[in-house]
Amino acid sequence: MEHAFIGGRSTPLDGAEEIVVRDPGTQEVVGTVPESGSAGIDAAVEAATAAFAGWRATPASARGKALEAVADAIEAHTDELAPMLTAEQGKPLRESRLELHRCVETLRHYVGLSLNIRGTAVSDLDTGARGMVLRRPLGVVGAIVPWNFPTTLLANKLGPALVTGNTVVAKPDETTPFVTLRLASIAHEAGLPEGVFNVVPGSGQITGAALVAHPGVRKIAFTGSTPVGKQIMATAADDMKRVTLELGGSDPLIICADADVDAAISAAAMGRFFNCGQACLAIKRVYAEASIADRVAEGIAAKARKLSLGLGTAKGTQIGPLHSEEGRVAIVKQLEDAVASGGEVLAGGSIPEGEPFDRGWFHEPTVVYGASHDSAVAVEETFGPLLGVWSVADLDEAIDRANASPYGLGSSVWTSDLAKAMDAADRIDAGYTWINSRTKVYDELPFGGLKQSGYGKEHGEEALAFYTEEKSVVIRT
Ligand code: NAD
Repeated sequence: MEHAFIGGRSTPLDGAEEIVVRDPGTQEVVGTVPESGSAGIDAAVEAATAAFAGWRATPASARGKALEAVADAIEAHTDELAPMLTAEQGKPLRESRLELHRCVETLRHYVGLSLNIRGTAVSDLDTGARGMVLRRPLGVVGAIVPWNFPTTLLANKLGPALVTGNTVVAKPDETTPFVTLRLASIAHEAGLPEGVFNVVPGSGQITGAALVAHPGVRKIAFTGSTPVGKQIMATAADDMKRVTLELGGSDPLIICADADVDAAISAAAMGRFFNCGQACLAIKRVYAEASIADRVAEGIAAKARKLSLGLGTAKGTQIGPLHSEEGRVAIVKQLEDAVASGGEVLAGGSIPEGEPFDRGWFHEPTVVYGASHDSAVAVEETFGPLLGVWSVADLDEAIDRANASPYGLGSSVWTSDLAKAMDAADRIDAGYTWINSRTKVYDELPFGGLKQSGYGKEHGEEALAFYTEEKSVVIRT
């Protein structure tokens, strides 16, 4: 069994139950990890608390340099890490490499920002008095991460937490623990002081809940589903832990008749089926103006039909298996509901049969056109290779439909009229709007959902504010 990584070393936890991790494509056992539970969380929080004073006292530029060494080391281990990620997550090897590259780039972004962690000063506060606003780290940060992008979603938290002087206890999803554990050992081999970054594997209900409830943790940085985010926010209220919550989404992509329709079709297909559709920022609903809607729906369906489905390890695979059986069951149910409501399946629609599909959680990339606007594919988050496409009268209807969702994470608008595009960007309730652009997250820009897609920001300088607190100091001279 692989152990928790606590205080700079692999740490066995006596009597911990074993969690078996399986490859989503083959059901072969990848390995086992402990259900770390309260004992593991207590030990990790103790190690992170012990490390905090020294790490906080380290100059920010030196913390940045330490993080730079970590990023370089992760990059140097890409050939080792990418197959591990594919084995536990299921994604094609090419996407695993891409994910690791994004993880490294995000850490490097925070290396740069480490030179710019500043407060402010007020020179004319009062006669003979000056004021300073200092930025202080929070303390121990609990980072809870899902299985869809285990390394990048961790980097989004690790980068800003570490450069601002916090220490971290990370809990990966119970189904994707190995790459995260290896990242921790690589970070320490690269010189990160012991206790600064700890990894505690286990389930959400037991180990995750223990982390959220621990009084020694000052902040929970969570990425995951909206229901669990709400639970975390409620528990965190008990001792006023700070939270950032990156939650679910149902991102709309709107195509106006004056757009570059072919480019929009490509962006919709790419935005939906990347990572087998298991992304918070995936395109989940397409609204096209009536005069081009048939062309859009058929165009995306044609692209979906061409995607090559297979094991993440097989050459040429573009779509791997879904990550879990429950994930596939949810997609099948949402598709059935869409069809029952009047939707027409233009591509896919089935679970493929034969080798290697019989062993894993595969589902064909699927496009359903014209389902009811209150069917599951329109109102729920679809977390897999299933896309709904609708015809709408005009941009106004598209924006109304887009905003009808309880989510507000990403959105995109395709039109050649920039004034229309900017108006749409103002009116769509989402944390991000891409105009004539595929849904790519930039490290420079703050990212975070509105409405039930979350609270707080990751990425950009703005994220630093969520890992620090301002303190005012008055000096009378
Ligand atoms: P999930 O909420 O079930 O699990 C996410 C993490 O939380 C896992 O590590 C899990 O073990 C842990 N967890 C579960 N219950 C917990 C509890 N009671 N206390 C503490 N921790 C707990 O999410 P999931 O369904 O596995 O992941 C997919 C979801 O994540 C989707 O809704 C997706 O949109 C969302 N997501 C959001 C973003 C974003 O940045 N907004 C990014 C990726 C994924």
